[in-house]
Amino acid sequence: MANTANETNFFADVCKNFDSAAQFTAHPEGLLNQIKACNSVYRFQFPIRRGNGFEVIDAWRVEHSQHMNPTKGGIRYSDMVNEDEVMALAALMTYKCAIVNVPFGGAKGGICINPKNYTISELENITRRYTTELIKKNFIGPGIDVPAPDYGTGEREMSWIADTYMTMNPGQLDALGCVTGKPIALHGIRGRKEATGRGVAYAVRECVTVAEDMAKIGLKAGLGDKRVIVQGLGNVGYHAAKFLAEFGATIVGLCEYEGAIYNENGLNIDEVFAHRKLTGSILGFPGATEFKNSMEGLEQPCDILVPAALENQLTVENIRNIKAKIIAEGANGPTTPEAEEIFTEMGGIIIPDMYCNAGGVTVSYFEWLKNLSHVAFGRMENRYAENSNANLINTLESLTGKSIPAEHRLMIVKGASEMELVNSGLEDTMIHSYHEIRETLMTKAGVKTLRTAAFVGSIDKIAVSYMNLGVWP
Ligand code: GLU
Repeated sequence: MANTANETNFFADVCKNFDSAAQFTAHPEGLLNQIKACNSVYRFQFPIRRGNGFEVIDAWRVEHSQHMNPTKGGIRYSDMVNEDEVMALAALMTYKCAIVNVPFGGAKGGICINPKNYTISELENITRRYTTELIKKNFIGPGIDVPAPDYGTGEREMSWIADTYMTMNPGQLDALGCVTGKPIALHGIRGRKEATGRGVAYAVRECVTVAEDMAKIGLKAGLGDKRVIVQGLGNVGYHAAKFLAEFGATIVGLCEYEGAIYNENGLNIDEVFAHRKLTGSILGFPGATEFKNSMEGLEQPCDILVPAALENQLTVENIRNIKAKIIAEGANGPTTPEAEEIFTEMGGIIIPDMYCNAGGVTVSYFEWLKNLSHVAFGRMENRYAENSNANLINTLESLTGKSIPAEHRLMIVKGASEMELVNSGLEDTMIHSYHEIRETLMTKAGVKTLRTAAFVGSIDKIAVSYMNLGVWP
């Protein structure tokens, strides 16, 4: 049966944010309604054999907007998944792709299961059957709809999807581009796994770099003196914390289901991760104050809060207790519109999900390009660049009679690896998009938040696509 117990207003919240921004655009109402609507909602059920009987699994794939093809977005495995959530997440994908100039429409998938309650072979069975159902209805393909990992899924599930799709489409040259977030051995791309968290860290770094904006909220520019609390030690939270620490910030708090820990002198993310792996909990980490109620962890003193778990975490109930001046949304939809209004009145800045966590889909785009071009980035030119750089240095040395120290020579000569190219593309995207959004915030009268500014930019880009498609008269 469909999961009705967890029905939410998430899609309505996304639409509310959309409407707040739409008033600052000049598009006709009908076009705005078309952009907002979910184009295709595919809800299906299928049985799997379990024990001596069968279990019926509820699943969804929503393609929110086909203004660009393919549509793109992850697949979530969680027993909280419901239709409203998948629709909301699909819509967010549309706006997210538009913001970071990734030429895809938005989509999302969900299967209502708690993966922890299933064996690996049951999970494989479910994933392959889900993929088959998508193929039957033309809801997957490198030019149609391209899934990716999301909450509860990862490289393993993506490889089952790719394998099922390739089996059913023999000889299709671009078949590997039917899904992203694949393992490297199946032509995934280096840096994809870390990409969302890395992108969050770039987004935060960019935000705190603008001295003028920081002065308004009583902070100094730069990450060096910033204290950060991260909610969620999954793929996004872990990597966001890791890269923020690498960029100079201090991770003072971490929150998970089982509780939260806090240490004003800083927590080493890898040590906490290892402790959790060993003991099954972040609680009991040496030297940290702990809170059995995880939500209390969000309310501890810090400058930046990174909710990187699930939606609906910051609400009217707790937003006034948040000490952070900046909320960087690693998760999708962690702040309700009402909570955002209060936080903005409190003088805080929210770096919105649709931009802040767009690193994942950005690098998915690079992976898809790699799959379509059938060659890894850097493979053709890496050695050539190294040779010509070496030639240049040799010539300089012989003309000047001076020699360049070995470590400098190495640095100058080296060609870019796939990982370096991916990270540089991601960094450039996050920096460029931040300033595009900020520019709208600074120049459009009445726009008060980065989220509204981001939506305005997105809506404008999508509207242009619809008109170019001839969909709108
Ligand atoms: N699930 C991720 C997101 O919400 C990644 C989507 C993708 O790479 O297509 O952005």
